[in-house]
Formats: sequence, C-alpha cells, structure tokens
Amino acid sequence: MNLGLENRVAIVAASSRGLGKACALELAREGAQVVICARDTACLAATADEIASATGADVFPVEADLTGDAQIRTLVAETLARFGRIDVLVTNNGGPPAGFFDDFDDEAWLQAHQLTLLSAVRLIRATLPAMRARQWGRIINITSVSVKQPVDNLLLSNVYRPGVTGLAKTLSAQLAADGITVNNVAPGYTRTDRVLDLARARAADGDQTVESVLADTVANVPMGRLGEPGELAALVAFLASEQAAYITGATIQVDGGYVASLL
Ligand code: NAD
Repeated sequence: MNLGLENRVAIVAASSRGLGKACALELAREGAQVVICARDTACLAATADEIASATGADVFPVEADLTGDAQIRTLVAETLARFGRIDVLVTNNGGPPAGFFDDFDDEAWLQAHQLTLLSAVRLIRATLPAMRARQWGRIINITSVSVKQPVDNLLLSNVYRPGVTGLAKTLSAQLAADGITVNNVAPGYTRTDRVLDLARARAADGDQTVESVLADTVANVPMGRLGEPGELAALVAFLASEQAAYITGATIQVDGGYVASLL
C-alpha cells in the first residue's frame, strides 16, 4: 500500500530513542521528511544520521526540551524555516516516574502535568496554524494502555494520559472541517531503553534476573512477549496516511492483547 507520505513533513517529538525514533524511521521509510527532537544532542545527531542513511530521507534534528513552551515554539519555527510546512505531528515525551499515591508531592504532580499533558497541548497549539493553512493534517499522540486499563504503579500516567485522550477527542471534532485528524496510539509493554532500564533496576533491587523481571512483565500479555517499537510505528505511519483520512478521535492500542476491556 502506498501511504501517500512522500514529501510530507513530519515532526516526531522525543525521538532520539525508543518509540519516537521508531516512528521517525517508519515515516522516513515512507518518504516523509522528518524532524526529530530530544535533549541529548549526541544521541539525537546519531539517530538523525542512522535514519537518513537507512532511508535516504531528509532528517532534521532539533535539540529541544519538551517541558518548555519556548523550546517547543522554536522547534516548530525551525521546522517551518527548513521545510515551509508541517503535515504530521507525533506527540511524545519521556514517561512520568512510576510510583503510588504516597510517593508524589505537588511538585511531582506539576512536573508530570507539564511533561505528559502540557507538552502535547503546546506541540499541537504551535503546529495547528501550519496545518490549518494547508487544510490537511495528522496529529497522533503516543499515550499508553493506561488510558484503557490503569496500571497499578503508574499513577501519574493513569491520571495525565487520559487528559491527552480527552484533548484529542475534543479537538478531533473541532478540526475535522480543516482536514485534520487527531488520534492516539496506546503502546503496551514495548522493548525500548526505558522498559529495559526499568527491568534492570528492578532486577538490581531484588534477587531476580533481568530475564525473570521481563517474564513477569509479559505474564499478563496474551502474546507472551514484549512489543517491538516498529510495531507501534507501523500504526502511526498508517494513521498519518491519506488512507486514514476518515479515522479521527480514536485510541488504538498496540499491546499484544494486554487490555482486557471490550473497547
Ligand atoms: P525512551 O526512554 O526509550 O525514549 C524517550 C525519548 O524521549 C528519548 O528520545 C528521550 O531523549 C526523549 N525525551 C525524554 N524527555 C524529554 C524532554 N523533556 N524533552 C525532549 N525529549 C525528551 O521511552 P519510550 O519507551 O520510547 O517511551 C516513550 C513514551 O511512551 C513515554 O512517555 C512512555 O512512558 C510511553 N510508553 C512507553 C511504553 C513502553 O513499553 N515502551 C508503554 C506505554 C507508554
């Protein structure tokens, strides 16, 4: 299937590693020009080189901390200066810390609000004028299965990611007339540095091996394995495509069957 992404311009947030990087790679494979961003300059530059040499795409790395409004506006301005348009926005960020209610003070709640909800609000706000100008756009938010099935020790994710879902659903109705779709993808347990680092930390804290921590992690996943970042990225590329023009306001999980709800 030709997804019609040749020469589209895509910003993928938080994309030096993990899910964001996989999305940038997949969009580049489909012929898009891709803007990637993160705070870690060296890793960001290496990722840009890796994607460009694997795909031949024009990959533009912009250093940005997505907890700040000014840096997000600069990211969008630099994209427009370089490419003159923005067709696709994938919102994403580092994950909020794991923990339970007693673990978090006001500062932790405010930081999670900024990291998880406000960064999506700011990215969309900064990007919308360029999409409206061309009457075409695809906004795809990377959230989590926690929006469909709260995860015990991920309280901050359970609270703020549904906020992103509410934002997307509301905007999807309001932006449809401008040819802009807004959808969410909800990853389950996926093999990225974040998941492997958490497993290593849990193994170091207890008397388990990393392998047995990962086996516990996938015990409730019907597929019996972690997801691969490329499996989420394939859905993101489809939602960015011409063919996905009639899909909006949806949340689709990529979780090996983990979410137990009907819808
Ligand atoms: P990761 O740690 O592998 O990658 C995170 C990326 O975000 C990196 O490129 C990092 O440099 C960048 N980043 C972090 N903080 C940033 C900031 N303030 N400004 C700019 N860039 C920043 O994580 P991942 O596994 O790819 O997860 C991405 C998102 O998806 C997270 O919010 C995570 O909680 C969520 N998620 C992941 C999984 C999973 O299993 N991997 C499951 C559900 C949800």
